[in-house]
Amino acid sequence: MDKLWNKIDNYIEDSLVKPDDVFRTVLKNSHNAGLPEINISPAQGKMLYIILKAISAKNVLEIGTLGGYSSIWMAKALPGNGELISLEIDPFHAEVASKNIKLANLSEIIKIRTGDAISGLKKLGEEKHKPFDLIFIDADKQNNAIYFNMAMKLSHTGTVIVIDNVVMGNSILDSSDSLGIRKLFNAIANTDTVESTAIQTVGIKGHDGFAIIIVK
Ligand code: SAH
Ligand code: MG
Repeated sequence: MDKLWNKIDNYIEDSLVKPDDVFRTVLKNSHNAGLPEINISPAQGKMLYIILKAISAKNVLEIGTLGGYSSIWMAKALPGNGELISLEIDPFHAEVASKNIKLANLSEIIKIRTGDAISGLKKLGEEKHKPFDLIFIDADKQNNAIYFNMAMKLSHTGTVIVIDNVVMGNSILDSSDSLGIRKLFNAIANTDTVESTAIQTVGIKGHDGFAIIIVK
């Protein structure tokens, strides 16, 4: 099955997504730097890009930068005076991402903040940062319920929250919930100020899925 999913994802990438060369170079740089290949796929990057355009987003918060691949997809959908803040715990990942972002000419828009996400989110609260139009949560999965609750405090009516990797094969059915997926789903389900769904996906990243939430 995996091979079929890969072929179809490649077909989708070539026919519709059509990423420019920068994206290929970014992935190559990240690979050469030894980063894990756990970035979103090109098709998923384009999906985030389309969502951002659809809501005319101006500012985005990302949790989990890695080599900046998803950051670059999202920043490309923002206006020239847009802002994307990305929180990353690993200084080496942040360094690779900074280089990639420079290469993509997006250093004016994307600001990486190095440190653990919980402190980063607290700091944004203390700064009384303007609420974000979209928040993309894609860091350590066990903390997703906390990130979701903290993201709510940085949201306005209409903010879209996308949480990656909420299926991870059959992990979602694991009743011991070692990855905290059900904890996250409970946190979302118990928040009466949002509407939400989750979509399973297959493709070059295997069988996974994302949750998509809108703040009422
Ligand atoms: N969004 C990226 C992939 C992120 S991978 C993309 O699709 O291109 C997850 C990233 O989260 C890794 O770089 C990891 O170092 C970072 N991370 C893990 N735990 C974290 C934490 N507690 N705070 C901030 N970042 C964290
Ligand atoms: Mg992910």
